[in-house]
Amino acid sequence: MPNAIRDFVMQQPLFCSHNHHVSFKEFDAGRAGYDHTTLLGYADADLRTAAGARPPGGEEWLAHLDACWPKVRTTGYGRAVALACRELFDLDYSPENFGAITRALQAAIADKSAAEVFDYFVREKSGTKWVLSDAKLDVTDLAAYAEDLHPSYYRFAWRRDDLFYPTDFAAFASLEQGTGVAILSLDRLVDAINASIDGFKGAGRLQAFKIGMAYGRELAVVDPTRHEAELAFNRLRSRTRPNDGIQQDSGRVNAREARPLGDYLFHRVMERAHDEDIPVQVHTGYLWGHWGSLMGTKASLLLPIFEKYRRVRFDLMHASWPWTSELGAVAKNYPNVYPDLCWAWAMNPAASERALSEWLDAVPFNKIFGYGADTSHPWCDVGYALQARLGIARVLDQKIEGGYFSPAAAEEVAAAIMLRNGEEFLDLTSE
Ligand SMILES: [Zn+2]
Repeated sequence: MPNAIRDFVMQQPLFCSHNHHVSFKEFDAGRAGYDHTTLLGYADADLRTAAGARPPGGEEWLAHLDACWPKVRTTGYGRAVALACRELFDLDYSPENFGAITRALQAAIADKSAAEVFDYFVREKSGTKWVLSDAKLDVTDLAAYAEDLHPSYYRFAWRRDDLFYPTDFAAFASLEQGTGVAILSLDRLVDAINASIDGFKGAGRLQAFKIGMAYGRELAVVDPTRHEAELAFNRLRSRTRPNDGIQQDSGRVNAREARPLGDYLFHRVMERAHDEDIPVQVHTGYLWGHWGSLMGTKASLLLPIFEKYRRVRFDLMHASWPWTSELGAVAKNYPNVYPDLCWAWAMNPAASERALSEWLDAVPFNKIFGYGADTSHPWCDVGYALQARLGIARVLDQKIEGGYFSPAAAEEVAAAIMLRNGEEFLDLTSE
């Protein structure tokens, strides 16, 4: 049966709010190793989950891929893999095809430059027009962000999570090295952070700040005084700064002692976001991998931040799953908050559909980001993009069926949440 909104959503170009793709140089360095396992993306984590509390083969889950895969192929992570494999190679992702999948993948990249590989998988096969990348490169190594190492339609976020949960001098030492600012005092540390941001901006790469600190601490941030932060800094510097190669004292400060410093630095970065209207992306909700401390990742822990920095635009990523309804309420209450479904379609397609449906009923649609692949390999985007399109189409179809949206309104919503909101958020016009 023809379905106009589904057809519209399937061909609508995408704004990808979040990705971790490597540079062309790193991509080329890994060419020989791209095999069927590189299609797994996040599904490797579900393999470990399927293996249970006492994995039969220890932690070497890849050796058990054949046995574990059937249990994983039904989850969102697993379905993204199957979708990509079917779309790209017309093959089922299953053990008997692993050899053929590797050969097909290698054939697909064989005669292409890295730039052509990215164009093929990201632009052509995923239908992505723009990518906001969190490339996991050192943001003080500006050579790694050179224009000829990344597609022209990629934009970048400045990210230094380690500054917000320091327990030794290592984070500051690399900042010192990268910026040339000797970190002799708290003020000099703030100078070094600003110098790093200035460098990123000067290189034309600063499109957003990315705060991924949920991986190392809870999201609640208080407002310590300069004195409290300075005490923490002095303690940390005197105890943990390498001195002619000799590590002093125990080499670490406990996380509680260092927290005032991390919180203080967080506010300094928010001030720059405020002063220069730089959007802030924050990881909220579920954490990649296993054993993560989920309770510290709720978006609502950041309410005092949204309230204080009313003129800063916050992109709250990953739908804050499993607290998606809560994020809808937050986004409705705080005009500076934008709920984002990046990665969520793969983590939990059913929850993502419910989230989008609820948000559309509560939050003006110009605030919602509908897609972000959040992958490392460009071919993984194909499955995640398809997954997002199928979910978005289903939600909008239900809104039309229920009589809530006209077909024209549904198309307007799709164009906004899939592309236009992102273009407006980052002020994207030409490549
Ligand atoms: Zn990510």
